[in-house]
Amino acid sequence: MLNIVLLGPPGAGKGTQAELIVKKYNIPQISTGDIFRANIKGGTELGKKAQSYMDKGELVPDELVVDLVRDRLNQDDCADGFMLDGFPRTVFQAEELDKMMKERNLSITKVLNIEVEASKLIDRIAGRRVCRSCGATYNINTKPTAKEGICDVCGGEVYQRADDNRDTVENRISVYNSQTAPLVEYYTKAGNLATINGDQPMDSVFSDIVKVLGE
Ligand code: AMP
Repeated sequence: MLNIVLLGPPGAGKGTQAELIVKKYNIPQISTGDIFRANIKGGTELGKKAQSYMDKGELVPDELVVDLVRDRLNQDDCADGFMLDGFPRTVFQAEELDKMMKERNLSITKVLNIEVEASKLIDRIAGRRVCRSCGATYNINTKPTAKEGICDVCGGEVYQRADDNRDTVENRISVYNSQTAPLVEYYTKAGNLATINGDQPMDSVFSDIVKVLGE
């Protein structure tokens, strides 16, 4: 059983690798960012609370995130493994995740820490585009859609996330460095961190991940 955490700064390519991982290993992807965006789109209370933080590139408060992940992990499709993308993002969230795993007699198999040189992140994010319908990710510089603005996978509309503009991105990166980067040490101590060089073509990044997770 694979219980995976994807770690890495905004722009490291977590979303792209997540798509490849869920396809190969047939486990659900749990992206807290996607869950918040769906709630914003649906106009829910949670979406309203999360939006002001997301627009500024700040983290949504821990108490809004942890229960949401606990509920999601309780769903049947997570019984044979899962991949967390964008959670945990603080040491508190990591400790809460450890508790959730303990309650179920489970553990996190691997934390994949995707590393990319800081100077490259802003350009990578500014070029990012996402499908509104199926969530497939593209990059206007490195992985464009065949037809401009149209998703190759489902034909949906491809757009730029509101928080992918340069100003917000700078804040997201500094929030990552101060609040999320300490998790590298946390999981190194726990003994399940694998560092992946994210500064390679996406297929090479993925084959390094497969080496860590096994065929
Ligand atoms: P992402 O799609 O993972 O880049 O997340 C987009 C935004 O959603 C982040 O900048 C945060 O505002 C919020 N967010 C997503 N996951 C979390 C989390 N685990 N803790 C706090 N905020 C989060």
